[in-house]
Amino acid sequence: GEKRPTNLNALADEYLKLAYHGLKAKEKSFTCELVTEFDPALGLVKLTPQEIGRVLLNLYNNAFYAVDERKKQFDPDYKPTVKVRTKWGSDQVEIRVSDNGIGIPDSVKAKIFQPFFTTKPTGEGTGLGLSLSYDIITKGHGGMLIMDSQQNQGTEFTISLPTKA
Ligand code: ADP
Ligand code: MG
Repeated sequence: GEKRPTNLNALADEYLKLAYHGLKAKEKSFTCELVTEFDPALGLVKLTPQEIGRVLLNLYNNAFYAVDERKKQFDPDYKPTVKVRTKWGSDQVEIRVSDNGIGIPDSVKAKIFQPFFTTKPTGEGTGLGLSLSYDIITKGHGGMLIMDSQQNQGTEFTISLPTKA
């Protein structure tokens, strides 16, 4: 794909709605609070929108899946939430996708970026999303993709992309 100066706030927001409404269309009862904190100082970032969009879609869908799994614990106080934040820095831009879902067990953390690794039932996950996302961010855009997770509390993925290409 061709890289072009892109408004990442708009891209992140559009794909968030796309992912959420796509899921709701399939699963009518699905609900999740969406929280966005988009840095208004964000400048244009040179990237391939289709590729970064694909990364975002996968992170969002993983987050929605994680909150949906946690809902099965039937905690009456549980409020499923997915948060997306952007932050402009002098030489990099950060996009954080966090959820308060089931989290990732320590024993699994080292494997999540491996192709075909999935903990989802057959037919629900290919295990390709994060390995593809990792390649798009690192090899394709010279950035970083970092995971931070606590079992039963939630997960945060941070994408950072260089702004000076
Ligand atoms: P898939 O979604 O097809 O399983 P991914 O590569 O997107 O493949 O993710 C690999 C695995 O990483 C998932 O099966 C899951 O175990 C774990 N994972 C990824 N994102 C999250 C998340 N937000 N919360 C909990 N587990 C996650
Ligand atoms: Mg996935």
